[in-house]
Amino acid sequence: MQFINIANEGVKSLSPYQAGKPIEELERELGISNIIKLASNENPFGFPESAKQAIMSQLNDLTRYPDANGFELKKTIAQKFHIEPNQITLGNGSNDLLELFAHTFASEQDEVIYSQYAFIVYPLVTKAINATAREIPAKNWGHDLDGFLAAINEKTKLIFIANPNNPTGNFLTHTELDAFLAQVPSHIIVVLDEAYTEFTAPTERVDSFALLAKYPNLIVSRSLSKAYGLAGLRIGYAVSNAEIADLLNRVRQPFNCNSLALASAIAVLNDDAFVAKVAANNRQEMQRYEAFCQQYQLDYIPSKGNFITIDFKRPAQPIYDALLHEGVIVRPIAGYGMPNHLRISIGLPEENSRLFEALRKVLNLQ
Ligand SMILES: *Cc1c(COP(=O)(O)O)cnc(C)c1O
Repeated sequence: MQFINIANEGVKSLSPYQAGKPIEELERELGISNIIKLASNENPFGFPESAKQAIMSQLNDLTRYPDANGFELKKTIAQKFHIEPNQITLGNGSNDLLELFAHTFASEQDEVIYSQYAFIVYPLVTKAINATAREIPAKNWGHDLDGFLAAINEKTKLIFIANPNNPTGNFLTHTELDAFLAQVPSHIIVVLDEAYTEFTAPTERVDSFALLAKYPNLIVSRSLSKAYGLAGLRIGYAVSNAEIADLLNRVRQPFNCNSLALASAIAVLNDDAFVAKVAANNRQEMQRYEAFCQQYQLDYIPSKGNFITIDFKRPAQPIYDALLHEGVIVRPIAGYGMPNHLRISIGLPEENSRLFEALRKVLNLQ
């Protein structure tokens, strides 16, 4: 029996998600220690103290199911962003939410639009439900919104936009998104995936909740995995029109967010000092990366995220392998159709210095 023959049509064209290499795996493979990982856009400051305390306070209650409605977390999010709790949907990471959007709004006959080089979970969730993927060729590695508009037809159900995008770091301004949304028919759901929005300077940031008030077909999705440092706990939230949230909550698994994640999320959303520290480090260190690239004439894609993607103008896999031998894990993105690029997450100052040193050695830079 070839089980692939009985899989859903869309599943046949999928390959498993390639995650960043875990530190322990490299330790085992090469027998080296003192490894740094700049591969998964994780928070370099480690797990926030505020979240640790929240977790300790939950330990005795872990025998109970979590609050299926996430009442306290929704209250926290609603107060922070001046929205209503009934506009919020909680997810087991925002990846869970992306899947929820597809399940709730698209089916086999429908088309889903996203960009070439956009976050790989969009094709994954689209193909898993057998919907038709309309991948729009990128413009300067980013979203070509005019191309999106031209691809809309009567079958279009869902549009995914990552802003900033991963793995390219491209960014669309509030004005560009506003102009785009004004032209999208109101029965098409537009998902604005803002997993990295906290890294964008407040003056540049898209006021996505203002857009939401203007365009009820918009869903804004956020993550606590990046700036907030909770990647291992899996928690994210979507903000939308209340009617959309009601639909999403019908499809959502009732206990998709665990008690520790719920409690930690409340703690870090109130921990402005932690996020400010993380964002400031990112801004400062991003400048060092840009200066490094400029000094050695390495071509990079300007990024508004917590990572930078460098074009080595030749297959990047050997560079990646050589960096592993220097104890530095970065991210190959050949799976995105970018075999000459590596994506590097911005780390702590000393981690970034190690990366610079390793790259100088590997590339023989003088
Ligand atoms: C990291 C990332 C996410 C968030 O993932 P979680 O499931 O919340 O950990 C969502 N979208 C993009 C574009 C990302 O890079």
